[in-house]
Formats: sequence, C-alpha cells, structure tokens
Amino acid sequence: MAKPIVAIVGRPNVGKSTLFNKICGKRLSIVDDTPGVTRDRIYGTAEWNNRSFMLVDTGGIEPGSDDVILSKMRDQARLAIDMAQVIVFVVDLKSGVTAADYDVASILQKSGKPIVLCVNKCDTVGETPMDVYEFYNLGIGDPYPVSSVHGHGTGDLLDAVFEYFPEENESDDEEELIEVAVIGKPNAGKSTLLNLFAGEERAIVTEIAGTTRDLLEVPVMVDGIQLNITDTAGLRDTEDVVERIGVERAKESAEHADLILYL
Ligand code: GDP
Ligand code: MG
Repeated sequence: MAKPIVAIVGRPNVGKSTLFNKICGKRLSIVDDTPGVTRDRIYGTAEWNNRSFMLVDTGGIEPGSDDVILSKMRDQARLAIDMAQVIVFVVDLKSGVTAADYDVASILQKSGKPIVLCVNKCDTVGETPMDVYEFYNLGIGDPYPVSSVHGHGTGDLLDAVFEYFPEENESDDEEELIEVAVIGKPNAGKSTLLNLFAGEERAIVTEIAGTTRDLLEVPVMVDGIQLNITDTAGLRDTEDVVERIGVERAKESAEHADLILYL
C-alpha cells in the first residue's frame, strides 16, 4: 500500500523545516532565519506507531507577495497540498495569529483536505500557553502546541494526523503478497507492461514522458502466485515538482519491493 503523504504548509519562518527535520530525524531541509529559504520541496520518510508515511516540506505560502521566488514557492505548496492526504498547517506562537495565517487558512480550507493545526515554538514544558487558544480563530480546529526545536508535542500532533490516514490494507500484513515494482526511465513501456499483466487498461499510456505521476498498484495472479505489481513514475531529473514526488515514490517502491522489473 502506498504511503500516505503529509504536507507541511504555512507562511515562511514559522518553523516548517525544523518540524520536518525533527520528524524525519535527519537534517534534510535547510533551516534559516531568513524567510523563504526552502526554495525546493524536500521529501522524507518517517515512521510513527509502526506505520511509515511521506512528509513533504514546502517553502511556505506568502499569500500577498508578487516576488517571483515566493510565488513559485506558493505554487509548489499548492501542488504538495494536492498530493497530500493530510496537511499540517504550521503557525508561530511567538508572532500570534497574523493576516497571512488567515490567508493560508483559507487557501487550505478550499483544498478540502484534512488539516491539523500545529502551533510551533511552544518551547516551555508544562501547561499550554494561553496564547495557543488564540489560534482557534483560524477556524481550523484544535491547535496542537509543538516545539519543533525540542520535539515536544510532535507525538500528539502525529496522532492527530494519523486519524485521517486511510485504513491500512489488511492483505498487506496477512497474505504474503509478492511486491513487484516496475521501474525504469520515462517512456520505457512500464505502464504498457502493467496493463498487459492486468489484462485491462489500468494505467494511462501515452507517448508523453512522465505520464505516470504516482504509484499504481495492481494485484495479478500468475500460476497461482499472487503478485502486487506497482507501476511507477519514470526515473529522471526533473524540475516538475509533482513529477519529483512521483520519482521519489518510485525509488521507495523499488526499495521495498521483493522484486524489481527494470525496463
Ligand atoms: P520555515 O521557513 O517555516 O521552514 O522555518 P524554519 O524551520 O526555517 O525556522 C525558522 C526559524 O524559527 C529558525 O530560526 C528556527 O530555528 C526557528 N524555530 C523553528 N522551530 C522553533 C521552535 O520550536 N522554537 C523556537 N524557539 N524556534 C524555532
Ligand atoms: Mg523552510
């Protein structure tokens, strides 16, 4: 079963990258005091309660800005939101609720995706600071106090995120499905092969490289053996952010497969 995707969104400098690094346990994302440092999306895999998921750090949404880089970051955040199952909306306790937070909240609400509100920089242990309750005004629901620097609060935050994940496929742990990942460059014919196995048009086949953007799993019975064949996005370097998530997920699929069909 493909890992759920969680996107970390919020205006710049609230601590999204710090949260990302804390949860992924690695310093993959650039943290800086200058707003707008994360110019590129960063992906990571994390695990909580024995279930792994993909975390996507976004550069941040600066709603009103015309700046080219900031508006590009905004586009990327939108794409991350589209792909995600759950959004973690990060705000900053120290700055309180800002106009930009309201703008981000309304963009997120339009997405229709489940949102978990993370009030970051709650560095003192113990009672929840009163200022946290101010964030109810965003209309997102319960604020989760977190200190991304120290790590406290991240457990409760992830519990709230996990509530929204789809149920894990039972057959995944019960039957011994053999996972086959179809991997290769774009246009190698991966989706055509998958359709052949499936006996029907499951994957969209076109001459346009990069058509398969996410994983597509198809169960296939071969000589009484149950295989789970996964079609993946073609591996290549690309500037296209959605395609890059796809490539990242293709690599993951290869890592976890019992067998790789390399085209
Ligand atoms: P992003 O732009 O939202 O990704 O924010 P960053 O993760 O780059 O962090 C911006 C600044 O906030 C950096 O100086 C971080 O060290 C600081 N910061 C992040 N999380 C916390 C936190 O939990 N507590 C405190 N005190 N500072 C934090
Ligand atoms: Mg960042």
